Amino acid sequence: MQPSDRSAQISALYQEMILDHYRRPRNKGTIENPDEKIVMKNPLCGDEIEVQIRYDGDQVADIGFTGRGCSISQASASMMTQIIKGKSADEIESIRSRFREMVMGDQSAQADPTMGSLRALSGVAKFPARVKCALLAWNALEEAQRKHG
Ligand code: ZN
Repeated sequence: MQPSDRSAQISALYQEMILDHYRRPRNKGTIENPDEKIVMKNPLCGDEIEVQIRYDGDQVADIGFTGRGCSISQASASMMTQIIKGKSADEIESIRSRFREMVMGDQSAQADPTMGSLRALSGVAKFPARVKCALLAWNALEEAQRKHG
């Protein structure tokens, strides 16, 4: 197989994963008794996200999101809630900063297997206007962590 075929296959797979999360978002909706509710907007694209989190100590006991916007912003929020649920503050900080490096184009973060399905969003690094879309839910998460911490 030619390397270009492989990279085309991977980007088709990533595109499919993004569309799957966009069409069938995970953890979409409000949660019971949230400790933090953070709204973030990306006026450049018209994206809006509200992230709700309930904590158990420094662990995320439950997380949900509501909002609307482009497929990147909504898929990123869906993937974020899936990966963050049950994690501690330290784990969240590590995943969040690694994800940020990945979408900003850091090659070692893009190749990091611990990023798992989040790597589906690594392609946005090539489109600076979409980086804000991908980071919107994560910026809401960062704000929630800061307020809770
Ligand atoms: Zn967007």
